[in-house]
Amino acid sequence: MILTRHFHSCPRCSGREFTVDQGDRHFLCRVPACGLEFFLNSAAAVGVILYGPDGRLLILRRAHDPGRGLLGLPGGFVDDGETAEAAVCRETREEVGLDLDPGALSYFTSAANLYLYHGVTYQTLDLYFSAPCANLEQARAQAEVAEVILARPEEVDPAAFAFPSGRAAVARFLRQGKNA
Ligand SMILES: [Zn+2]
Repeated sequence: MILTRHFHSCPRCSGREFTVDQGDRHFLCRVPACGLEFFLNSAAAVGVILYGPDGRLLILRRAHDPGRGLLGLPGGFVDDGETAEAAVCRETREEVGLDLDPGALSYFTSAANLYLYHGVTYQTLDLYFSAPCANLEQARAQAEVAEVILARPEEVDPAAFAFPSGRAAVARFLRQGKNA
């Protein structure tokens, strides 16, 4: 269920005349003495396609839902006040133990996504980067990761990825390469 469907009353005055419009983004409390306006925007998230000198790509098998057992890329939600590049480096360190050079990241593409967690669907905007990585073999499955897979491009099936945004990014990368 989309997050806004869980909101039935105003969080400031508890009034029940709490409506949402503009594509589930804009809440308005119609209690005149309150009049709270509240916006729920897409959360920023990142992912990174890391490729080694031999052209192999680093793919993850997800340890937890959403998408447990399916494939993914290093990445996750951007923290408040954090840049997308810093989020890529942090998530890559947390998930596979690799330290990336932020200057080596190239912006690749973006896609809107829905992220279902504990019965609530969040709208996200996923920003994808790519980067060369000389030491992919040192990647180890850590937080939220069941398995690290180093795969040649022809071995990668985008359909096996958990999220449509990741599928699209990987498919585009395979089609166009790192210079897309
Ligand atoms: Zn109110």
